Amino acid sequence: MPNALVASAKVLETIDERLLRCGISRRAFLIFCSSLMIAAPYGLAITEKKTPEEVAAGLGKVVRPPVIWLHFQDCTGCTESLLQTSHPDFGDLILNIISLEYHETLMAGSGLQARQALDEAVKKYAGKYILVVEGSIPTKDQGIYMKMAGRPALNVLADIGGKAAAIVAIGSCASWGGIPSADPDPTGAVGVADLLPNKSIVNIPGCPPNPYTLLGVLLQYASNGTLPEADELRRPKFAFDRDIHEHCTRRAHFDAGNFVKQYGDEGHREGWCLYEMGCKGPETHAGCSTRHFNEIPDVWPIGIGAPCIGCTEKSVAFRIPMFQVVQLHTIAAPPTSFAPITTTHGSMSPLATGLVGLGVGALAGAGYVASRKFSKEQGYDGPPGSTPSNSEPGDDA
Ligand code: SF4
Repeated sequence: MPNALVASAKVLETIDERLLRCGISRRAFLIFCSSLMIAAPYGLAITEKKTPEEVAAGLGKVVRPPVIWLHFQDCTGCTESLLQTSHPDFGDLILNIISLEYHETLMAGSGLQARQALDEAVKKYAGKYILVVEGSIPTKDQGIYMKMAGRPALNVLADIGGKAAAIVAIGSCASWGGIPSADPDPTGAVGVADLLPNKSIVNIPGCPPNPYTLLGVLLQYASNGTLPEADELRRPKFAFDRDIHEHCTRRAHFDAGNFVKQYGDEGHREGWCLYEMGCKGPETHAGCSTRHFNEIPDVWPIGIGAPCIGCTEKSVAFRIPMFQVVQLHTIAAPPTSFAPITTTHGSMSPLATGLVGLGVGALAGAGYVASRKFSKEQGYDGPPGSTPSNSEPGDDA
C-alpha cells in the first residue's frame, strides 16, 4: 500500500479486523458494498468492474483511514445526512469503516477534554490523517467572527489542514462559502481551497451532499493512496459528471412541455416539470436524480416536489434567486423543439386501405407457402406451426 497509512498500520485496524471485533456480519458488509457500488458507480476505482464480493474482499484489507472532522460556519446538515440512513446498520458501518478520531457533534467529551482529544489526534496521525471540513471559514476582520478554543478559525484551519495528508471539503459551505457567503456576506466566508490552494483537496458540494460520495473518496484514498479524478471545481467526477436534468424523473414532462405554474396547482400534484418554478437541474452537476438520500426511492428535492436550487454549483445556489428560470445551454428549449405528445393523425382513403390489405395478404401467403416447403423438406406434411408426430420429446433441445 503506497500511502502514508502503511506507517500507521500497527496502530490502526483493517476494516475486516474492526468488523470482526464489533460483531458486524459479513452479510451486512456485503449489502453495504452493494450500496456503495450503486451509489457511486462511475469511475470509482475501488468498485470498477467488480462484484460486491470482490469489493468486500478488497475493502476488508484496507487500513481504516484516520479522519479528523472539523466544524466551521455550518448547520451540521452534512453530518446529519451521513448519520440519517434508513437502516441503523448503515450508520454503524460507516463509523466502523473509517477511524473517526475527532468529531465535535458525535463525541461525548467537550471543552478542555475535547480540545485535548483533538491535539492528541493531530499529533498521533500528523501527515497521515484525512481532514474533513464542514462549514465555511470567516476571513473578515482577521477572522474574529469564529474562534475555536480562543483561536480564530482561520488559524485552526491553517494548522490542522497543513498537517493533513488530504482534505475533504464536505458541503457547499466548505467548498466555496455556501449560505454564509451569500450577499451581503457579513463574515467574508470562504471555502477551504481559497485558503489552502496548494493542498490536496476534494470538494464534495451539496446542501447536504450524498454521504456515499464522501465514503467513496475516503475509501479510495485509504485503499491505494489516490484521490478520485476531479473536475475544474475539484469535485470527484464519479459523482458530478452529469447534470440532474439528464436523468430527472420529471424529464418526460419537460420534453412534453408540461410545467408546474404554481405550487399546489394540478401540474404540481401530477408531478410535472418544475423548470418554470426556477428549477436549476439543467445546469447543476450532481447525482441526486439517480442516487437518492437515506436509501429511500424519491427522497430528494425534485422527488418531493421542490425545484433543484443548484447547491452543487459555485455560481448558482445562494447566488441567483431561487425562482429565476435558468438558461438552457446544452439542450434546446421546450416545448417547440420537441415533438408534442399528442400528434394529429391524418385519415386513410379507402383505396390506400385496400392496397395495404393487399400487401399484407401477399406477405402472409408467401409465409404460408415457405413454411409448407420447409415442412416437406423435413419429411413432415402437417399444418404449419404444429410439431411433427414422429419427433421425440427433447428433440428441440
Ligand atoms: Fe427535472 Fe428540473 Fe429538468 Fe424539470 S427542469 S426535468 S424538474 S431537472
